[in-house]
Amino acid sequence: MDSKKIEKKCSCGYDKSHSMIKPKCHYSGWGWVLFSIGMSARPIRVDFVCEKCGEMIDSSTELVVLKKYVGR
Ligand SMILES: [Zn+2]
Repeated sequence: MDSKKIEKKCSCGYDKSHSMIKPKCHYSGWGWVLFSIGMSARPIRVDFVCEKCGEMIDSSTELVVLKKYVGR
């Protein structure tokens, strides 16, 4: 399938599928406006950050990934 896909891990050894890794969504200014009027906005970027060590193991701007986090 995707041969260049490498699962990165943080210092604690957690990868993206672990529950300690939380997605942090970043929205454009317009996204926040949509949010505030109760519409779901799609983030422009999602960072995957470990809750324990605070390390960012991954970041994505891919549409397929962003779509999963609409309204979060
Ligand atoms: Zn960690």
